[in-house]
Amino acid sequence: MGETLRTDTVVVGLGAMGSQALWQLARRGVPAVGVEQFSPGHDRGSSHGESRIIRTAYVEGAEYVPFVRAAWEQWADLERASGQELLLRTGTIMAGAPDSGAVSGALTAAAHHGLEHTHLSPQQARERFPHHRFAPGEEAVVEQEGGVLLPEAAIGAAVRLAREAGARVLTGAPVTRIVPDPEQPTVWVGDTGIRARRVVVAAGSWTTRLLPQLPDLGIRVERRVLGWFPLTGDPAPHTGGQVFARDEEDGTLWYGFPSLDGLTVKIGVHAEASGARFEGAQWGEPVDPRVGPRAPDAADRARLGRLAARLNGVGTLPERMAACMYTMTPDEDFLIGHRSELPGLVLAGGFSGHGFKFASAVGAALADLAEHGRTDLPIGMFDPQRPQ
Ligand SMILES: Cc1cc2nc3c(=O)[nH]c(=O)nc-3n(C[C@H](O)[C@H](O)[C@H](O)COP(=O)(O)OP(=O)(O)OC[C@H]3O[C@@H](n4cnc5c(N)ncnc54)[C@H](O)[C@@H]3O)c2cc1C
Repeated sequence: MGETLRTDTVVVGLGAMGSQALWQLARRGVPAVGVEQFSPGHDRGSSHGESRIIRTAYVEGAEYVPFVRAAWEQWADLERASGQELLLRTGTIMAGAPDSGAVSGALTAAAHHGLEHTHLSPQQARERFPHHRFAPGEEAVVEQEGGVLLPEAAIGAAVRLAREAGARVLTGAPVTRIVPDPEQPTVWVGDTGIRARRVVVAAGSWTTRLLPQLPDLGIRVERRVLGWFPLTGDPAPHTGGQVFARDEEDGTLWYGFPSLDGLTVKIGVHAEASGARFEGAQWGEPVDPRVGPRAPDAADRARLGRLAARLNGVGTLPERMAACMYTMTPDEDFLIGHRSELPGLVLAGGFSGHGFKFASAVGAALADLAEHGRTDLPIGMFDPQRPQ
């Protein structure tokens, strides 16, 4: 016979979103249990690989700006509470042709919300950022309100603070079933049942498998690869540089970070033109999260190497690579809130490869929803009940 635990709120999954939700609940004095199948900060989901970009003039839509501003405040709060530096304020470069999504999207968001920014012509961009090999006609939007988040450290800090505030944390504990109920939903870990008033499900790429009650919302899990490339020249422009995203004419949207170790820079590809193929690999390869993404291979090395060549002072053979999963919704907006098929549950999923920067505010919103059933944070556009 298994044990039965009781608590107010269970958080399933202690990745980016669940770790922040657990801390927010615990600091408010809500009895909470966090359950993670691996250990917080692991490298088998969507939140590993040393760094994540935060930017404010939001290319994906000006309507995200109020939520990213809330996230900045919550990150500062987590830094204060943990005594750790979790966000390096480097500023951001968004570059591309004048009509590219990166440039026009950043300018639209900046104009709409009165965000401080600088718009550089191709010549100004080349002069100011000589470590970037910009294409002719590539211009840049630069903003100070951008930087690097340290994902493993942020997750670790939130889980530690949650524990210190009284939350119980179960690791190496795969949830096998969640039984929705408006009064008393139950989370099963093997034959141990955890009965609660509310359950927050923040299971990342595993969400749809864990919630068979969900109708098909068109969620896809896709593989992405990151590469760390060696610095070959003067490291200063790269160590003191900005995070960046570059929108290429062929539809590739790739990004990179300043060097955090003084030896390498990390780059990755966010999106490609639909149907793109590289040496036989179809872009956006689907992944079964139970198996995990395929290990990086020679095609990934060549693909990322071609992009590394768009930087000066950087070699084109990566020192290491890592594979990771994106959980995509059809509209690439997140799913945060309630679904009628899942009474007693609060859902946080479908972060579509751009969710980490919001995790601190998502955690606060999830704690509000679990505690009060509503939140003042601007998450209306993420209603999981919206038509997809
Ligand atoms: C390569 C890459 C680069 C990215 N770059 C950026 C960026 O620069 N900026 C940005 O804002 N975003 C970025 N993102 C997106 C961002 O990292 C994700 O949106 C975010 O990490 C998703 O968090 P999550 O909590 O939903 O998922 P995860 O962090 O994967 O957490 C889900 C957790 O649930 C656990 N879990 C699942 N099933 C169970 C179960 N049955 N029982 C117990 N535990 C379970 C998992 O083990 C995992 O720990 C990037 C993503 C990738 C992959």
